[in-house]
Amino acid sequence: MWIDAHVHLQDARLAGKLSEYADSARRAGVACLCSAGTSPADWERLASLTETFPIRILPSFGVHPWDAVGLSRDWFDQLEFILSRFPEASIGEIGLDGLREVPEEIQLPVFRAQLDLAVRLGRPVVLHGARSWGSLYEELRSRADQLPGILLHGFSASKEMAERFLALGAVFSFGGLLCNENATRCRESAMRLPLDRITIETDSPDCFPNGGTRFPGEGEDSKLNHSGNLLAVATALSTLRNIPLDEIAQTTRETTLRLFGAGERKG
Ligand SMILES: [Zn+2]
Repeated sequence: MWIDAHVHLQDARLAGKLSEYADSARRAGVACLCSAGTSPADWERLASLTETFPIRILPSFGVHPWDAVGLSRDWFDQLEFILSRFPEASIGEIGLDGLREVPEEIQLPVFRAQLDLAVRLGRPVVLHGARSWGSLYEELRSRADQLPGILLHGFSASKEMAERFLALGAVFSFGGLLCNENATRCRESAMRLPLDRITIETDSPDCFPNGGTRFPGEGEDSKLNHSGNLLAVATALSTLRNIPLDEIAQTTRETTLRLFGAGERKG
């Protein structure tokens, strides 16, 4: 049984396709999905999927750095409210981003407010640091020992950066990039980090991996990703580290559940 440590199941691109999504995840042996909110606009949908989707969901609620622009004045109250409804939820996907042009003076206060909330409420955080891992580290450093869990989703930084985050107690989540032989930095980090500090993810519906299978019912040129492709990521990790798939499954599952403060569930 596998856990997909980072997806966006509530994404509008998956609406109307969720039973196919559940089928392909089940066929691949994926029994739990960690689904991350991105803005107040998708929290309610994630909340209702958490209660109704046939596969277990561990939700996180937060504002993604891309969505930090144009937030309503009460976004923070809304976040506190939804977190109060889901005492097991984490705070994410939050962080800093260097891929798109969202000004730092907008990203940073939104990120800091959510990190401080995570400290105050004692919730784990799901972090996005694309092209901003250094700044993310600086923000995290003073708060890391007060956070119950830190997940670095889509980790792609250097092994030196990985060492620094490792010392903060972070867990590293690797996705489809691991299946790309040119992604040297990411693959090197995945090879060297302690296995019990690694989780795997698809980041679906994005990040379609090399060697992945098409979303059921989609055409050959579709890049819509799904949790069934977690096996492609797992296989890449298994090959890189020369560790059998069942050991990867067990260790990543235990690490994910520990991080989110959740237990195993039968069936
Ligand atoms: Zn994401």
